[in-house]
Amino acid sequence: MDDCIFCKIIKGEISCHKVYEDDNFLAFLDIKPLNLGHTLLIPKKHFQWVDDVDNYDEYWQLARKLSKVIQKVLNPIIVSKVVYGLGVSHAHIHLIPKFENDGHIGGINPNNSKQISSEEMTKIAELIKNSIK
Ligand SMILES: [Zn+2]
Repeated sequence: MDDCIFCKIIKGEISCHKVYEDDNFLAFLDIKPLNLGHTLLIPKKHFQWVDDVDNYDEYWQLARKLSKVIQKVLNPIIVSKVVYGLGVSHAHIHLIPKFENDGHIGGINPNNSKQISSEEMTKIAELIKNSIK
């Protein structure tokens, strides 16, 4: 879709802090991270809803695989997998590391984004990327 920001990221028209890419999926750090390492996993083909994504099983298997990598790299309590179905209308799974005293009470507060420098984002993306086997 021409006016879809995620499709533009896939086409390389908008840059991102990429952590993973294969033929069907792309993962990158959320530009407004709710915590350090907050990653978005999207299908390369435009689908509005997660439930519509082709290779649905593969999609969630990949979410688990990347969660485990983020878990290893950042050592959070857990990596929450969140599908709000809101915001950008291109299917995306949020992988959000949950830390002690991270300001998120009772789950993940979508309004509590963190200021993380571009340098730090680059570093974290590299760390995750280099830990994927
Ligand atoms: Zn799209």
